[in-house]
Amino acid sequence: MIKNPYLGKFIAFEGLDGSGQSTQANLLKDFLVSEGFKVILTKEPTKDSQAGKEIRQVLDKNTLVEPVYLQELFIQDRKEHLENLIIPVLQQNNIVISDRYFFSTFAYGVSDGLDLAWLMELNSAFLVPDLTFILKVRPEICLERIKKRGSAQTLFEETQKLEKVWQTYAILPNHIKNVYIIGGERPINEIAEEMKSHVHLKLNL
Ligand code: ADP
Repeated sequence: MIKNPYLGKFIAFEGLDGSGQSTQANLLKDFLVSEGFKVILTKEPTKDSQAGKEIRQVLDKNTLVEPVYLQELFIQDRKEHLENLIIPVLQQNNIVISDRYFFSTFAYGVSDGLDLAWLMELNSAFLVPDLTFILKVRPEICLERIKKRGSAQTLFEETQKLEKVWQTYAILPNHIKNVYIIGGERPINEIAEEMKSHVHLKLNL
């Protein structure tokens, strides 16, 4: 995996669906913009690439594909995301905040039966974010929040699947640098304050 060689900073938010990634990514963006930085907020899978569109069909359960093929789609989408958006922004000394990046595909891929070392190898040519936050929220709380947001049904099997996904997120800080697990069951503003202090301490922003 490649260390960011550019002047700009790359921050990623990860966690289970409903853990508050979008909420926190938006708050951090607003804060950094108010401090005078130029910030691009983006998301994986992307909406623009052909691979991203195919991934959404799978995630929306409109199509079923093999787990390995799904990972290949994520790789293609990520490659285009980096080339077309992330790297150009970093080259201009600006900040990229991504709502999900490769950590999600590791965690969900392992829960689909794939090997973590293989998934990491598949992503070895990609940039590692300067800072990654993984929001830790229990699956049952995530599912409750998703339900309130008005999407998806709460199923017992889903809780078990999400427990498995979490087990991989939990060990990623042992494998990749600058990854922090943040307690995400606290009030939104309290979490946002912790993000700001990490960003200040680690990235000098
Ligand atoms: P994600 O992007 O991880 O799927 P969202 O940011 O969309 O999650 O949050 C899911 C739902 O939970 C939203 O309705 C959001 O307002 C709510 N939410 C986010 N963070 C918190 C929090 N710390 N406490 C309570 N509810 C939250």
